[in-house]
Amino acid sequence: MQEYLQDKIFQIISTAADEQQKECYVIGGYVRDIFLKRDSKDIDVVTVGSGIELAEAVAKKLGKKAILTVFKNFGTAQVKNFDLEVEFVGARKESYQRNSRKPIVENGTLEDDQNRRDFTINALALCLNKERFGELIDPFNGLTDLNNKVLRTPLNPDITFSDDPLRMMRGIRFATQLNFNLEINTFEAISRNKSRINIISKERIADELNKIMKSDKPSKGFILLEKTGLLEIILPEVLALKGAETRDGIGHKDNFYHTLAVLDGICEKTDNLWLRWSALLHDIGKPRTKRFDNRLGWTFHNHNYIGEKMIPEIFHKLKLPTNDKMKYVQKMVSLHMRPIVLSEDEVTDSAVRRLLFDAGNDIDDLMTLCEADITSKNPEKVKRYKSNFQLVRKKLKEIEEKDRIRNFQPPVSGTEIMETFNLPACSVVGDIKMRIKDAILDGIIPNEHEAAKNYMYKIAEEFGIKSGTELK
Ligand code: ATP
Repeated sequence: MQEYLQDKIFQIISTAADEQQKECYVIGGYVRDIFLKRDSKDIDVVTVGSGIELAEAVAKKLGKKAILTVFKNFGTAQVKNFDLEVEFVGARKESYQRNSRKPIVENGTLEDDQNRRDFTINALALCLNKERFGELIDPFNGLTDLNNKVLRTPLNPDITFSDDPLRMMRGIRFATQLNFNLEINTFEAISRNKSRINIISKERIADELNKIMKSDKPSKGFILLEKTGLLEIILPEVLALKGAETRDGIGHKDNFYHTLAVLDGICEKTDNLWLRWSALLHDIGKPRTKRFDNRLGWTFHNHNYIGEKMIPEIFHKLKLPTNDKMKYVQKMVSLHMRPIVLSEDEVTDSAVRRLLFDAGNDIDDLMTLCEADITSKNPEKVKRYKSNFQLVRKKLKEIEEKDRIRNFQPPVSGTEIMETFNLPACSVVGDIKMRIKDAILDGIIPNEHEAAKNYMYKIAEEFGIKSGTELK
């Protein structure tokens, strides 16, 4: 296996370890990624003895360019050398208590250290000592699992997951990222231990969810979360989308699987994590707004509006950022029907201007979401929607070039209105501004200062205000 350890850093670690007469291995994700031919810059090195002492010797050998950071409390040290980051740790044995994922740690052997790993594919180790340089230590047949694309815990999965329930999320995340399958006992143990997830911090759960969301096909992760019962605990709002009811022979689509199709679809078009979250949550208001009407069949009136309102609670609960990223997701969810409705009707200039005004700079993302939202199995329908969308996109471009609505700034400011009519700050000023904005969006006047100012005089007259006169 020597061919995998070509970087000169491994020779330096090897010499330092031999000089200190310590067993030393590169272990975990880096070794796994070598076999998977995935690029990885984070190297974990485990030694039988003090990891800090070994790190200090390696940093010394690397010279000035290397940066050494020691974490005394954790007994670990990191050496940064250009773009490589090497973590050094002494081999350890861990034992857990029921209500915490913080283990009691003792010094241990390589075997102890491999036993505490989450999956067999993450327990592979390559020896760095000169005599055994490149030797693979694979006590759990991790390499076979790697070739078979299987995720399996090294020890009894009930113990592995109960000890540190984050491993359940990690397992589903790896299955999604690597397109692996959970071995049946491992899968069933997640189902059995699902409620242990409650001892994990929301930040760690969100971190894993984001890694699932960043994968090529996040649906795989969400289906596993659903099947193991974890989804019900961490994102019940998404689980509530599941199920297709039929009444009087009229059914509706299963919004869970539809949502996952939209999510996978959008992942082919964008890496924007928040647009991906918008896809996951675009129909989140549907379960709460679902009604059966004898005349109309199933309806989900205002689900976009209710969905928009549900998002702060979901973001807060998962400790996702409740800043402009959340506002963006809310905007996408609230507007996600608009281009579709527009494309079903006659595409008027006024409706396009209003859409541009409401979406602003996020219009292209909104169109991407809407296009992904077309998951119909009926090819005729898909064709019709797609061509209508092309028309909407064309119109959006034409109108934007002509009217510049995307970053709409009122061509007449409130101050100008107040000064012209000698008005104090009051609701009338807002009303005049709104009427000018509406006139521009409806195409009554162009988006230009002169035209807006003339229109301002006209409105003021309607309101009985003359320039320079005070409002009674
Ligand atoms: P990624 O970098 O994609 O998160 P990774 O496997 O490199 O994948 P790290 O979190 O860097 O993940 O962990 C490095 C190694 O440490 C893992 O390969 C695994 O052996 C071990 N490990 C990490 N977290 C756990 C855990 N919760 N339980 C058991 N072993 C773990």
